[in-house]
Amino acid sequence: MSNIAIYPGTFDPITNGHGDIVARAARIFDHVIVAVAASTAKNTAFSTDERVDLAQRILGEHKNVEVRRFEGLLAHFVRDCGAKAVLRGLRAVSDFEYEFQLAGMNKRLVPEADTIFMPTTEHYSYISSSLIREIASLGGDVTEFVHPLVCEALNERLGKRAAHKK
Ligand code: ADP
Repeated sequence: MSNIAIYPGTFDPITNGHGDIVARAARIFDHVIVAVAASTAKNTAFSTDERVDLAQRILGEHKNVEVRRFEGLLAHFVRDCGAKAVLRGLRAVSDFEYEFQLAGMNKRLVPEADTIFMPTTEHYSYISSSLIREIASLGGDVTEFVHPLVCEALNERLGKRAAHKK
């Protein structure tokens, strides 16, 4: 039976920090499903299809990685996929409290799966999708933090807004 891990998130947009977690997980698990949340309380800059499409194009090099959208409860998606692991990245202690609570709730909802925390690679620790969006919307350079395809999408989406403000 293959060892499946679900890596859930908003990925609005996917960053090099996310990519690093996926690459490392792909070496540990037989199959990694990057689960892009469709119904999110967050007001996203990119639609679900756009977030999925970017992640698919960027992560395509990994043969054992699949990108899928999911609606509703993560626990149901995890169970439907037959996964035994939910993967989450940790950047700082500040991430921990919420992640620990989420892991506890998911364990309760889907006892057959466990949350695995993977620490960020040091030089990605300060990258977050929200900061990337903010920098891009203010006309800053994010090429160091995201894939060129994401850079293009951000310039298209948020750069124009920055240009209008000038
Ligand atoms: P969510 O809305 O679920 O937090 P995100 O797309 O922001 O979705 O993040 C998905 C997962 O990736 C989370 O576990 C988050 O902690 C992790 N993550 C985000 N950025 C990084 C990074 N730079 N390094 C390691 N993990 C990260």
